[in-house]
Amino acid sequence: MELVNLKDSSDTASFAEAVKRGLGKNQGLYFPEHIPTLDNIDELLEKPFVERSIEVLRALIGDELNNGELEEIVQTAFAFGAPVEQVNDNVYCLELFHGPTLAFKDFGGRFMAQTLSRISEGKPITILTATSGDTGAAVAHAFHGIDNINVVILFPKGKISALQEKLFTTLGGNIHTVAVESDFDACQSLVKTAFDDPDVREGLHLNSANSINISRLLAQVCYYFEAVSQLPKEKRDQLVISVPSGNFGNLTAGMIAKSLGLPIKRFIAATNLNDTVPRYLKTGEWDPKTTVATMSNAMDVSQPNNWPRIEALIERGYIDKACLKGEMVDEEYTQLAMRQLAQQGYTSEPHAAIAYRAVSHDLEDGEIGLFLGTAHPAKFRETVENVLGNPISLPKALADVAGEDSLAVDLPASYDALKQHMMDLLK
Ligand SMILES: *Cc1c(COP(=O)(O)O)cnc(C)c1O
Repeated sequence: MELVNLKDSSDTASFAEAVKRGLGKNQGLYFPEHIPTLDNIDELLEKPFVERSIEVLRALIGDELNNGELEEIVQTAFAFGAPVEQVNDNVYCLELFHGPTLAFKDFGGRFMAQTLSRISEGKPITILTATSGDTGAAVAHAFHGIDNINVVILFPKGKISALQEKLFTTLGGNIHTVAVESDFDACQSLVKTAFDDPDVREGLHLNSANSINISRLLAQVCYYFEAVSQLPKEKRDQLVISVPSGNFGNLTAGMIAKSLGLPIKRFIAATNLNDTVPRYLKTGEWDPKTTVATMSNAMDVSQPNNWPRIEALIERGYIDKACLKGEMVDEEYTQLAMRQLAQQGYTSEPHAAIAYRAVSHDLEDGEIGLFLGTAHPAKFRETVENVLGNPISLPKALADVAGEDSLAVDLPASYDALKQHMMDLLK
């Protein structure tokens, strides 16, 4: 697989290089030089998840990982399913929260951890990543206990749910967590600064594991195929997919799946009040505002870092711009959508509810809607219980960590403080 830096076309990388580097020169994102078209989609859709995913990834990655390696990686990483649940006559939910940390980020995190531990051949690596909640947990669990890989996770102090925080701050060992006294965008910018600092980048062999890393995106492509395989055949070509979006990794993966030939009619980019993209799609003006805190905090992002990849998919002719619509759902309508879902017998959480609202509102005659269930409702228990007025029970993964102590260290949003901390910890 050949990848090219979207900010500097002279900076190219193989799959292994792009996975190790994370970001390219000038903080540019790596993007596939060429996305193939698969001519055996129907046949692929008949296959089981793991087997099909190996074939899809083989088509994208090529022969850089040998067959045995790719098989092992996928089998270990995708050890749980992604079931489609029907919510009403024409709307379905793709449940991506059946992994160890109960959110879709388990797919990308685990695939990346397995890939990296194979391609780095035992050399020490430091993963540095910013999280608004779920990435941290997924990355921490995916890398916990892997030899020669240390993980440093930054998160905005007090801005993610207590339970969510416990999922990644209680592991210890090779997992180091930092509570930054600011918001998610500040965490993200500290990560970017660290990657620009040669002392830290070379000295600690930095690697980013957030949705910037190409391996995470490729893993996510696979569950879009899994979704289509479970939908009624006669409706497949009328499919509208609504993606609850923050950094837009999930939507990028869906668009790569469509570029490969998967029958997806169009996409809806659903956001909360942090609506830079929906406004941009309407007005043509890129005008990020200050990030505001919402119930769907994993989407509290006003400068989505995967957006240049979506632009590239459109500019390079893989995706027709008319296939993408943006929709902002405010706090009131998010709650309304959660209640409407509950009335239909489906308990959901704010992120998925936003995508449900956007698609159920927008479907045209004959179309069917699929929204991504990006997290288990219990991950947002307090909010869900407040909105629905009913207690919900905790799955085992959450119940187990609820009583443990957080091992996170508090730091101000200062690069010098972060650098000092990392050098002390890891040098
Ligand atoms: C990360 C996350 C999102 C946003 O996904 P992006 O790929 O960053 O757009 C949505 N919902 C939940 C629950 C998440 O954890």
